[in-house]
Amino acid sequence: MSDIRVRFAPSPTGYLHIGGLRTALYNYLFARQNGGKFILRIEDTDRTRFVEGALENLINSLKWAGVEYDEGVFLDESGKVVEKGDCGPYIQSVRQSQGIYDEYIEKLLESGHAYYCFCTKERLDNLREQQKSDGIIPRYDGLCRSVSLEEAKQRIANGEEYVIRLKLPVNTDIVVEDLVKGKIVINTNDMDDQVLIKSDGFPTYHFAVVVDDHLMGITHIVRGDEWLPSTPKHVYLYEAFGWDTPVFVHLPTVLNKFRKKLSKRNDDVSVDDFINQGYTAQGLVNYLALVGWSPEGNDEILSMDELIKQFSFNRVSKTGGIFDRDKLNWVNAHYIREMSDEDLASKIKPYLQEAKMIDDAYPQEKLNLLAATFKESLDRLMDITEQAAFLFEDKVEITEEDAIEYSSKDHVSDLASAFIEELSGIEEVDLEFAKTVMKKIQKQTGIKGKDLFMPVRALLTGKVHGPELVNVIELLGKDKLIKRLEGLK
Ligand code: GLU
Repeated sequence: MSDIRVRFAPSPTGYLHIGGLRTALYNYLFARQNGGKFILRIEDTDRTRFVEGALENLINSLKWAGVEYDEGVFLDESGKVVEKGDCGPYIQSVRQSQGIYDEYIEKLLESGHAYYCFCTKERLDNLREQQKSDGIIPRYDGLCRSVSLEEAKQRIANGEEYVIRLKLPVNTDIVVEDLVKGKIVINTNDMDDQVLIKSDGFPTYHFAVVVDDHLMGITHIVRGDEWLPSTPKHVYLYEAFGWDTPVFVHLPTVLNKFRKKLSKRNDDVSVDDFINQGYTAQGLVNYLALVGWSPEGNDEILSMDELIKQFSFNRVSKTGGIFDRDKLNWVNAHYIREMSDEDLASKIKPYLQEAKMIDDAYPQEKLNLLAATFKESLDRLMDITEQAAFLFEDKVEITEEDAIEYSSKDHVSDLASAFIEELSGIEEVDLEFAKTVMKKIQKQTGIKGKDLFMPVRALLTGKVHGPELVNVIELLGKDKLIKRLEGLK
């Protein structure tokens, strides 16, 4: 049994971000590879940023992606938030209400690693303004460092408002060893006396994260590199408590193709966006694993099991992983092609229904045939509505140059008549008819090869290339076929 314990610790401030899913995934892969445990902890101490429903969205998104965790916060069948594991509670606001952080802040106050600060917002604002105009980085000036614990307790008893700050030693190097980023050294003279407990009594992220990671036995902290600048504070807190520091692994930020951080305005950022567009869980997960990590071999189509086998922090890149939509589509298309027709049919159905192309009465065999017909050409499930649109319209517009040329050849009316004649002899188009009709038309008209197939294709689909003609004929059915051929008789 391995002692490895990792965690994903999102704040419920909205949907699950695609970068967050990658962080969760890397944690999961590392835990599974090493027989360790993966924990989901909710960091909701910033009450001003809490968003209703965000917690449920987080949990459901992870579940959809197949990123499973062993301990932490889950939803039961009725959608109620429940917890599992021996290190709970796993929600920081609940931990706060149970007084878990009080004990630890008390220790730091007693040992002189933290102090009460009574500076008003007004004083801090003025200080910041002054520092800015003096051209120095705004930082707390340490006024309350000299307030004794005794005096502080007196002032609190008198009803003064306060926060509690970390008391950093002066001119001391703090060393962060990061598995991906390497060694980082920062001097405390360049650091701020971080607030650990806010005036509302809630711990800040920096304090809660250290206490909880320690109490939950976390061995490796795997998170986005936006937290790297905060890590020296955390390292100092571990030292102040006399606790072992976990291993730090900071992951490169996910960037768009312009090498900019993904933004809600210009990019799809939430896992929901990708789900709605019809990326498969396997496709998205497989691709995300490659954003910032690369396998040793050339094969980039990797199942979850393969990823678990091959993943390693050694091959995580130091700087930005580029999110490449074309590559994601290529990976996703692979997983769509691997689906059975029935499975794909059930997955494209909601998109077709939403676009009002089909209703509940649409026969299952036709839906399966649709799936089979477009399986090779779909990058995402949502693409079905665009690609299959011509099948559901009464008429097709022939706009492609080649299609116009083929559909206006002299012999086209003969083809159309022969086709219509074949149709007149049947009740409805079935597979047998669809398979044999072109041969029959060839026999009847003597037209063959490109001169036969291209015009028929153009008339039926508007294009000279596209899905299997046999499938198109069967999917269109008698009425639609006649409508498309009739104008040309
Ligand atoms: N709560 C932080 C977040 O929202 C977690 C950072 C960490 O993993 O330490 O990303």
